[in-house]
Formats: sequence, structure tokens, C-alpha cells
Amino acid sequence: PSRFEGVTMAPPDPILGVSEAFKASTNEMKLNLGVGAYRTEELQPYVLNVVKKAENLMLERGENKEYLPIEGLAAFNKATAELLFGADNPVIKEQKVATVQGLSGTGSLRLAAAFIELYFPGAKALISSPTWGNHKNIFNDARVPWSEYRYYDPKTVGLDFEGMISDIKTCFVFHELYSPEGSFVLLHGCAHNPTGIDPTPQQWEKIADVIQEKNHIPFFDVAYQGFASGSLDADAAAVRLFVARGMELLVAQSYSKNLGLYAERIGAINVVLTSSDTAARVKSQLKRLARPMYSNPPIHGAKIVANIVGDPTLFSEWKAEMEMMAGRIKNVRQKLYDSLCAEDKSRKDWSFILKQIGMFSFTGLNKTQTENMTNKWHVFMTKDGRISLAGLNLAKCEYLSNAIIDSYH
Ligand code: PMP
Repeated sequence: PSRFEGVTMAPPDPILGVSEAFKASTNEMKLNLGVGAYRTEELQPYVLNVVKKAENLMLERGENKEYLPIEGLAAFNKATAELLFGADNPVIKEQKVATVQGLSGTGSLRLAAAFIELYFPGAKALISSPTWGNHKNIFNDARVPWSEYRYYDPKTVGLDFEGMISDIKTCFVFHELYSPEGSFVLLHGCAHNPTGIDPTPQQWEKIADVIQEKNHIPFFDVAYQGFASGSLDADAAAVRLFVARGMELLVAQSYSKNLGLYAERIGAINVVLTSSDTAARVKSQLKRLARPMYSNPPIHGAKIVANIVGDPTLFSEWKAEMEMMAGRIKNVRQKLYDSLCAEDKSRKDWSFILKQIGMFSFTGLNKTQTENMTNKWHVFMTKDGRISLAGLNLAKCEYLSNAIIDSYH
């Protein structure tokens, strides 16, 4: 008998499982709106031209494959913190930021979670309801307890701002879960996943007020900088607003979406502190945690980012390509809205589609309705009703709107 007899079958990942089901389908009309990866208007994967140029440069220079230091590539760490906070932000000049290169957004979140578990034992993470599914896995595996704050209002398919503030303030979430003061409040820096609903600038101010009042620590997840609005600075506004208040906070970054570097696993964890001395100590501990986990991060993606950001021509080309990608998604969003209004005899108010931003749209479809989308219409999507507009093109908007209307009624 096997010594591994007690190992049970793990359930498939709810997001990555959608792609597998899509691949297995033989229907001609099939549409993959599950995973959040950018597609061209022809629905093909896209490698940015600036990335190809940076890779050519690297080949020409004949760069080596030596180990990086534990904290990653120095030029990348500098560039990534500057992109996030702004190069002239006092926290950067005064060296109050501990930046460590991570294994993309996920690895950076995981490293921060390990740090929280070690230095803030018993502290909770407060996460939005709903949130990106992997957040719960990350905190579970790092043994950081978590509870949810209200975020999505199904009645308006919008933000439940009162509920959010109340849950962060009173620390009672869904009645039974108690979250002590000094929790880590996980916030999506821009383009909330899965809802596509972000707070307004005024609402961010109020969120910051409550977090300060309650002595919580903000923990931003920034996976879509530049991809939501098309502007790197605009998409960093929420993070910068908190930093300008002198708050200590954490920010995980990812270059999967905005540079299309999904498989290169490039991102960073930044901890903003109130002194350079604390920043140095926090950084030393992040390195200490990384060493036995993966020793040091991969070099290729880090060099691509550093080369693009460090070269004014490539940098402006990147911004143009990012605007192009964000623009295509906005066009598809508009066309989907127009088709829904044109096709829907019941004249439901679909304006929530236009109010949402970023790669995703929350349709408000429930589990049974999403099953109809997949089984009858061959539209592959997650069961929470989220669709990735990056996997849609103008030609298929009408088909999708018919599928949505049919599934709603
Ligand atoms: N956070 C959020 C909210 C995301 O949507 C994603 C990507 N789906 C990530 C983090 C991390 O992705 P990656 O590990 O590829 O950077």
C-alpha cells in the first residue's frame, strides 16, 4: 500500500479550472472570459512590442544568468518603487521604503503574509467581500487569520460604501467574526477584482480616515497599475493618497497585466515606514524570509522592467501600448453595454457595466445563471458572475449580450 494513501484529491482552482474547461470545449462559438489575461481583437495572446525590444537589447548585450541578490535586481527595485510612489515622493528620497522583488503579485503577497504572521501574531487580514479568490488561500497558507468587510452591493451592482466603512470601523464583520484593532486592511489599489468597482477619491479619503482612526495597517494589492485608466500615475493615486498622510503601509505589485509578463513572475513587495532605520530592518527580515522559501527571484522579467523604465523611448512606448490595451477594453465595454441595451426587451438598467473599470466586469449573474452561460452559450466564466473583458472582442459583443440576457431571465 502507498504511504501517500491519505492524500485526498485537491479541488481544481476556480479560475484556472475555467481555462481547462474552455480548452476541452469543441464548440465554435466558445468564449473564454475566465482568466484575466489580455487578448488582441483577434483574441490572441499579446506580447508587448517594448518587451520584445527590451529582450533583443538583453540578447545583444549578452547578459549573464548569475544569481540575483535575495532582494532582487537593484535597478528593478528602484524603478518599481518610483513607478508606484512617484520618483519625487519624499518616502523614496528619505529611504523609508523597504522594497524586495517578489514572484509577481502572488509571491509578493505571500512574502508579506509570512512577514505579518511572524511579526504580528494573531493580527487579522480584513479582505473585501468578494475579492480575488487567491487572497484567502494566501492568508490561509501563511496562517494569517482573515475576515471579510462588505464591499459589493448586489442591489446596485455597485460599492456598498456604508457597509465597508462600518465593517472596517466597528471591526465586526458578518456579526460573528471579531477583528481586533491593528488589522491589515487589504485594499485593491485600482480596478478591483472581481467587481471592477473602485471607491471614488472622496471615498478613499474616508477609508483612510477610518483606517487611521482604528490603527489598522493598509495592505494594497496593485495588480493593474496603468491598466485600469491607461495612466500609471492615475492608477497609483489611492496608494499615494495614503502615503501622503504619513501612514505605514504595504503594497504588493505585479507586472503580469500591465507589461503582459504573466509567466515571468515579476513583481515586488514594498513596505512604507516612518524612518529609514525601520525600513532597513524590515527589508532585512523580508530577505530572511525569502531565502529559505525560494532563495532569490528570477532575473529575466526584472531586467525587462528595468530596461523599459530606464530608457525614455521605451518607457513612452510602453505607456502608449498600455493606453492601447486599456482603450481596447474600454471599447469592448461600451459595445457590450450598447448591445445589452439594444437587445434587452425588459429594459433593465445596464449602466453598471459602464461604471466598472479595468479588465473585469461583474455581471450580477448568479451561479445557476453562469452555468446557463457555459452550458447553453459556451461562454466560460467564473461562477461568481465575473467576466474578463480582455477575452472579448467587438465582433462577439452581441453574442455575449444575448447570452447574458437569456441567462438573466
Ligand atoms: N492580485 C489581484 C487582485 C489579481 O487580480 C492578480 C492577478 N490575477 C494578482 C494579484 C496576481 O497575479 P500575478 O501573481 O500573476 O502577478
